[in-house]
Amino acid sequence: MQETLLTPHPYIKVALPVPMRTLFDYRVPKALALRHALKPGMRVKVPFGKSSRLGVIVALSDISDWDEAQVKPLTSLHDEEAVISPELMQLCEWAARYYHHPIGDVIFHALPVLLRKGESPEFRTENWWFTTPEGQALSIDSLKRAPRQQDFLKAVQQHPNGLSQHAMSVLDLAVSAGKSLEQKGLLRREQRSFNKSGEKHTHQTQVPPILNPEQASATQALLERRHEFGVSLLDGITGSGKTEVFLQVMAHLIDEGKQILVMVPEIGLTPQTLKRFESRFNTDIVLMHSNMTDRERLDAWLLAQNGHAKVIIGTRSSTFIPAPNLGMIIIDEEHDNSYKQHEGFRYHARDLAIKRAQNLNIPVLLASATPSYESLANALQKRFSWLKLRKRAGNANVSKMERVDLRGQSLINGFSERALIAMKDCLERKEQVLVFLNRRGYAPTLMCHQCGWIAACDHCDVNLTVHKRANKLHCHHCDTQKALLHTCPECASDELFTVGEGTEQIESQLQGLFKDTPILRVDRDSTQRKSAMAHLTQQILQHDQAILIGTQMLAKGHHFPNVTLVIIMDADAGLFSADFRGMERTAQLITQVAGRAGRAKKPGHVLLQTYHPDHQAIECLCNLGYEHFAIDGLAERKSLALPPFYHQVIVRAESGNEQEAMQLLQTMRLELEHQFAPEVLLVGPYSAIIVRKAGQHRALVSLKAHHRGALHHATALISQWLEHSTKQSRIRFAIDVDPLETY
Ligand code: ADP
Ligand code: ZN
Ligand code: ZN
Repeated sequence: MQETLLTPHPYIKVALPVPMRTLFDYRVPKALALRHALKPGMRVKVPFGKSSRLGVIVALSDISDWDEAQVKPLTSLHDEEAVISPELMQLCEWAARYYHHPIGDVIFHALPVLLRKGESPEFRTENWWFTTPEGQALSIDSLKRAPRQQDFLKAVQQHPNGLSQHAMSVLDLAVSAGKSLEQKGLLRREQRSFNKSGEKHTHQTQVPPILNPEQASATQALLERRHEFGVSLLDGITGSGKTEVFLQVMAHLIDEGKQILVMVPEIGLTPQTLKRFESRFNTDIVLMHSNMTDRERLDAWLLAQNGHAKVIIGTRSSTFIPAPNLGMIIIDEEHDNSYKQHEGFRYHARDLAIKRAQNLNIPVLLASATPSYESLANALQKRFSWLKLRKRAGNANVSKMERVDLRGQSLINGFSERALIAMKDCLERKEQVLVFLNRRGYAPTLMCHQCGWIAACDHCDVNLTVHKRANKLHCHHCDTQKALLHTCPECASDELFTVGEGTEQIESQLQGLFKDTPILRVDRDSTQRKSAMAHLTQQILQHDQAILIGTQMLAKGHHFPNVTLVIIMDADAGLFSADFRGMERTAQLITQVAGRAGRAKKPGHVLLQTYHPDHQAIECLCNLGYEHFAIDGLAERKSLALPPFYHQVIVRAESGNEQEAMQLLQTMRLELEHQFAPEVLLVGPYSAIIVRKAGQHRALVSLKAHHRGALHHATALISQWLEHSTKQSRIRFAIDVDPLETY
């Protein structure tokens, strides 16, 4: 014992944000070791190549795996305390192994951007204004000739505990006026940490409703198991009161001093969602999402880390939020694709959250109206406990789904007669229609009538989308934008026409059909600005009758109580997808959109326009519902040896050169395949469906196996081989474990 205390570990193993699947050894100078207790999770500056880098200590060690003479000393210690707790370090190490991703990149991903850049883990400080005794005693009237100073002093006089700079700017008071008052000795300023300002605290304003029997038994089951690891799938139709169930479970845990992480999809974090949480708890709630500044994110991270924030609501990136008293993780809309990171470190937030909860021995709650096949399979196999809510809360009726056969019909602007009549009726009842089309822009294609030329992206193998309002041609794959053309670049004809339709076109056509009705479009283009969605939501709630037209953005997180009719313009989209997940996604999307109809007290109606009304999938979904559809789908996956029954890894390679990526994967297969276990099924290399994207030619290999062990062994060999073989080349590669995209 004595010995180890006197001679600290001479080496540290450091993770660096570089694309190498290894840790780097550094020597700890004796003097530094005697002055500081080095711990895993602290940041250090270390020499790397010709420069120096910020890294994170992963382990202390008595020996080095490297040639000891070559191990360099670390340059400096960056922290007095670890910025990554042992718990999160364990999660990062597990994730690096599971996803075959460089450990340094995983650890840096887990940190807020400002900490990656070397900032201290400290709250932003803010100026607070206080009166001096003279300032408090001064009569406001004596400042008559300086009205701005007068207003400023008056505000501060009324707040004996001081006013923050933030509060002053909300009140529209000028800093310059404050400074003048300070010079006169009437005010003083103090720097205070953001943390102590207490601006995040919320106050319960809403009394929880009495739960219906289904909700009550789900809540009871969750409460009984709230102190140990276990995954529950809260599978309830839209409006069945899932959120209500977890709000009530959360209340118990908050009373017990626990922190709760609530994960929501990328665009599901609406002001409505936040308000609902705020109105229910007397506690600190923090948000964590991509629309926040780096500074705001660090402050939220710190509030979670010091235990102040009891509720953390965040998107995918909050998987790694530190929380010393974490008591439960809730994943709302668990089927949502935004939980999977599609580039770089390709983790799935749901799967990592489950691992994290297991390490901490705390429960996980997955909620969805359309659970992923993965989660349903786990529920069917009794690995997850399956809590079903099949009635709508508050006695609202479940919507009726009706197929509208488009074959041989004359359509007006893409709408069948049946749909138009239903829309008219709905609007006459002073209710709202939701039109769903999952394609933004005006039209997906621009073509020349004379020569057949099609506007295509220069960098991708796709057509450019026409955006009339912005007067642009836009590539939705690489973001290339060009001015909209009016003459053909091939034959100079001016007879250019659009093919197909997007939300922007439907919007303008509806404006022609329903002249006096407010028409609101909700898609990525109409909601680009920060407050646009909140503004649109407000408008929708203000009107009686209205038509909402939108993409999948309309299907998530919003409650529009006056929508009673949903029209799905193209129910066939996705029916014949090349991806084996196409059906699952289509069914989820249709069911989610359909769920928007008839919340609250009004019955809802859903019309699905289709050219394949007898297609078994559409028929099953309409008549039997999502659960039945999904169970059939799972049986098919099983018979075809597809996930979730088989595990899958996709290896991708891309290069600016047409052949390089494909050749590299071919060589890899030739050199390694004989080392894989026989049960590993290898397909490829094959070209991606969109071969060229952003100028890169893309090839992939698919690996499947029934057992994870065999698959991981093969994947480890592949990632080592590729890391080595691409060192000096322009080819980039990626390993995608449990991929959601397979082409
Ligand atoms: P979900 O999350 O399943 O879509 P919510 O929890 O949002 O469902 O509930 C749908 C609506 O019903 C909300 O307006 C909610 O306030 C209300 N609600 C939920 N449970 C009850 C209940 N037990 N009694 C009355 N209203 C309820
Ligand atoms: Zn032409
Ligand atoms: Zn492009």
